[in-house]
Amino acid sequence: MQLPCPKCQTEVVRSGELKRHCESCDSDFKLHIACNECGQELERLKACGAVNFWCEQCNELKSKSSAVYTLKDA
Ligand SMILES: [Zn+2]
Ligand SMILES: [Zn+2]
Repeated sequence: MQLPCPKCQTEVVRSGELKRHCESCDSDFKLHIACNECGQELERLKACGAVNFWCEQCNELKSKSSAVYTLKDA
């Protein structure tokens, strides 16, 4: 999953589990993962090496691909 930098649209690189860095404008971002249905921030669940997400509001398990990813200023 690749995300463009909100400032310069360059693809950001992974600098930590929930951290992304833009080499082009030297900015750090925090990865925000939200529910595609209600917008609530998702809780990360790790099981057997796979990552899934849990939405408290929908009371439902969300897959990596259905989550909405946005970059916030660190
Ligand atoms: Zn940038
Ligand atoms: Zn939800």
